[in-house]
This record gives sequence, C-alpha cells and structure tokens, in this order.
Amino acid sequence: MIVMKFGGTSVGSADRIMSCAEIVKKNLSRSPIVVVSAHSKVTDMLIAVARKAVKGQPEIDEIRERHVRIIADLGLKPSLVEKLLGELEVLLKGISLVKELTPRTLDYVLSFGERMSVRTVTAAFEKAGLPATAVDAFDLGLITDSNFGSAIPLAEADNIIAWNVKRFEKLPVVTGYIGKNKEGDITTLGRNGSDYTAAILGAACAAEEIQIWSDVDGVCSADPQIVKGAHSIEEMSFDEASELAYYGGRIHPATLVPAVKKDIPIRLKNTYKPENPGTLIRRKVVVKGIVKSVVYKEDLFMIDLVSTRMLQHHGFMSRIFEIFGKYGIVVDMIATSEVSVSLTVDSDRNLEPAIKELQEFAEVQVEGGKAIICVVGEGIRNHMGVPGQVFGALAGAGIGVQMISQSAMNINIAFLVNNEQVGPAVGTLHETFFGKGGVIGPN
Ligand code: ASP
Ligand code: MG
Repeated sequence: MIVMKFGGTSVGSADRIMSCAEIVKKNLSRSPIVVVSAHSKVTDMLIAVARKAVKGQPEIDEIRERHVRIIADLGLKPSLVEKLLGELEVLLKGISLVKELTPRTLDYVLSFGERMSVRTVTAAFEKAGLPATAVDAFDLGLITDSNFGSAIPLAEADNIIAWNVKRFEKLPVVTGYIGKNKEGDITTLGRNGSDYTAAILGAACAAEEIQIWSDVDGVCSADPQIVKGAHSIEEMSFDEASELAYYGGRIHPATLVPAVKKDIPIRLKNTYKPENPGTLIRRKVVVKGIVKSVVYKEDLFMIDLVSTRMLQHHGFMSRIFEIFGKYGIVVDMIATSEVSVSLTVDSDRNLEPAIKELQEFAEVQVEGGKAIICVVGEGIRNHMGVPGQVFGALAGAGIGVQMISQSAMNINIAFLVNNEQVGPAVGTLHETFFGKGGVIGPN
C-alpha cells in the first residue's frame, strides 16, 4: 500500500486533475490511498470570506465560481458540490449575524475547500475510468485534539484508520488538512497540513511509501530562484529533512513525525515530470559528499539581551523563555556569551509586550531585516573543518556573519546575515560545496 498526496496546484485545474488520474492509474498495483488538498488558492479565499462575513458581508460567489469552473471544465455536473456550497452559505450568513469568528468556526469554514475538492477529484477519476470513493478524513477515523488551526491526531486514531481503510473496495480519495475532535467539531492541521494527513494515514496503515506530489521537483541543493546551478537531491535522511523542513522546505514540518515513528519513506514527486525520481527521504542514506543543501529564511528579527547582573545566575534562561512562551513567540536560533544572549524570532507579533518584560532585567536591542542561512548534510559530521570552509568562503566574499550555531547533532551549520546578503551568501556556499554557483541576482 502507498499513500499518494496531491497538493493544491496539482488539483488546481481540470487538466492538472486529469494528470493526477494518469499518475494514480500507473500506481494501481501498489494499492494507493489518495489524499488531496483544496484546489490552489481556495483555502486563502475561504479565510478571506470568513473575515468578510464577520464584518457583516457573507459572500460566496467567488468560491462558487472557482469550483463550478473546474467542474465544468471536467465535463461534470455542478450539483457535485452544490450541497456543500449551500452549507457554507448558511454558515457564512450565521457568522455575519453573530459577528464572531472563533477558531472553531474558522476551521469549519476552511474544511469546505478539501471537502469539495475530494468530491470533484473523485468524480473526475471515475470519469477517467478509475473507480474511486470520496472520503472525509474524519469518517476514516482521523480524530484530533481540539487545537483548532493546528490540531494533532489522538493516539487512538491509528487503529481506527487502519481498520476503516480495509472497508473500501474502490480507490479512497481522502481530504487532506482536516479532522474532527471527539466532540465532533471539524479541526484543521495547520496550513499545508495535507502532507501531514498523508503521513498520518501512511503511518496508520504501515504504508510502503508516502508520496507527496506537487508542482516542483523534490528538494534542491539551493533555491533555484537564487542559484543557477542548483540541482535536485536524490536522497535525504529524516534528520536532514527535518532541518530543511523549517526553512520553508517542501513539506509541512509535522509530516516527518509519523513517518519517522513508523520508519516509512517519503518520496517528493513532481506531477509535471512524473518520470523524474524526485527526492526520497528515509531513515538511512548513503552519505555522499559533505553538504546536501544550502537553505535560508528571511525577514527575521534579532534580539540581543545583555545583563551583567543576571547571566551567571541559574534561572536566567528559563526566565527569558518563559516570557517568550507566554506571548507565543517562537525562538529560532540562539547564541550566548558570558554577559549576553542573542536570539532570533520570525515575526514581530507580540514582541513589544515581551520586550517590556525583558527590559525589567536586561538591556534589549531588536534589529529586523535578518536572515538565517543554513548548510545541511549528514556529511558535515564526518568531515573536519567544514565550519572553516563555510566561514572562510564567506569572508572571502566579504560577507559579515552575526550569530553562529552548530548543534551537537552536527549535521547543520547556521548563521545570521542581513537580508541583502542572502543571494551572495547562498551563491558563495553553493559554489564552495558543489563547484557551481552562479547567483541569479539579489533576491
Ligand atoms: N488547503 C490547505 C492549505 O492551503 C492545506 C494544504 O494545502 O495542504 O493550507
Ligand atoms: Mg497546499
């Protein structure tokens, strides 16, 4: 058994959906379960209509048109999603009356994207001669906690899913991204959560492989928009992939959790070039070379805390993190000295009140416009002098570096630069480790 997940762009038009049908047909001997996202842009549109509804304007036309267009292009009947559109319309009217949008209600609104797309994709598959059944993931047993907006499955979900999957005689086409809590309220797993659904189902059913199909080749050695010579990576370990997932990599970071737990390989594939091998992510890989990929994350804030009084005292770090925790601020990177702590956060949300509290015991400075650059590869562990190569190359290119971090796991080296240095730094490092750089331009 395999799981095949198709993302929003892959089911974003009639043509794309028909390509998915062809891809699935070629894999029928492996007993696939298909997972699909909402058609591209639909989740964003649903967020927008929910926000409009709270302001007293329930509008559904744009959502209806997006779906009806695809259905018409497929030569199918619009009645396919009419019932759900009707339910959504009632819901939006309700929101506009009470003028309130709780996280629970928002998840309910967002669920319509995937619930409609599975119905359309299933009908298209059937038309293409591929007998299929549309399934809402919660009917399969995907029960979650009540963390609306970023729910995670309950431990008992695995057994229920494994049991239910056996029921289907036809190919199941399952909603990504959504589940239900024990009370029966619909939940979502976080943006791009369909990857996570695929991994949850794959792990529950002990699948041979979890395939994530999108509109690009797997993971690249660097952002091809920045580095001309970037190549796609054939194989990565789970550890390398978890490091990369954070840097807006190709998959939802939580996707790796169920896959790692049950040791199921994940294969990233491109629906435009199904013959390409894509990138295979699994536990053990043959370590070739030193670095696999040079990645980055921009628009971060660096916070410097200096406190001569406190730093030697125990409890100083926990006090800092308590404050960040209280305001729900996620800390990415951290470096310390005897009298100072520097860290980065990826947004300025809630930063002001947090800084006020930090100022009670430390001098605080905040600087925006920063980027983390990270080189990742299991090979770093086995080679001495990689940090020397990294920072030597950067110095040679006249690039100043601010914070440096290398964890004990020793498969990545990360550092901070100004946003403007991302292009030159990534290009220089790609050239250093792969002999081909060629920066396309400042990003
Ligand atoms: N449709 C959801 C989103 O846009 C989930 C997904 O695409 O994986 O975030
Ligand atoms: Mg998506």
